[in-house]
Amino acid sequence: MAEPDLIEICPVCGQKSLRTIINETEIPYLGKILLYTSVCSNCGYRHNDVILLDQKRPVRIEFKASGPEDLKVRVIRSSNAKISISEIGVDIEPVLNGESFISDIEGVLFRILNIMSQLLKDSNEDKKKIIIEKMKKIAKMRNGIDSLTFIVEDPSGNSAIISERAKITYLDQGE
Ligand SMILES: [Zn+2]
Repeated sequence: MAEPDLIEICPVCGQKSLRTIINETEIPYLGKILLYTSVCSNCGYRHNDVILLDQKRPVRIEFKASGPEDLKVRVIRSSNAKISISEIGVDIEPVLNGESFISDIEGVLFRILNIMSQLLKDSNEDKKKIIIEKMKKIAKMRNGIDSLTFIVEDPSGNSAIISERAKITYLDQGE
């Protein structure tokens, strides 16, 4: 069942040493997905992407996370998706951080906290206060005190939040 590996030109070093491995897997509510992992054996460049075979329409997914058990809800983010949290106004933009991942809400929060602690270093006192407030809100969500609304927008339709409570809106038409 193994697909033959693809070997392509690496976009970073220009050598024909970029090997892509494709894995197929099955996810509840979503059906089949393809995971692409490309690694350059010459320079170490890595890229991941994901394709949902059964969902191809531009999509907006909303999920309200409110407590420790929601931290385990799985999130699939393609390289085209933007993730935002409405209560704290944080965005992970596709252009800035265009890697795909399969993670959970906890993992997304961890990424956001990482970005925030980077920002803290380069901020003045006023900005620091704002960032620390946002970090406190994330901590409250993790302790089940506050809820946070995650919004994933993906024009390629290759992202998902795997929960019965995820609200899905297709962006190409009404129904
Ligand atoms: Zn390379």
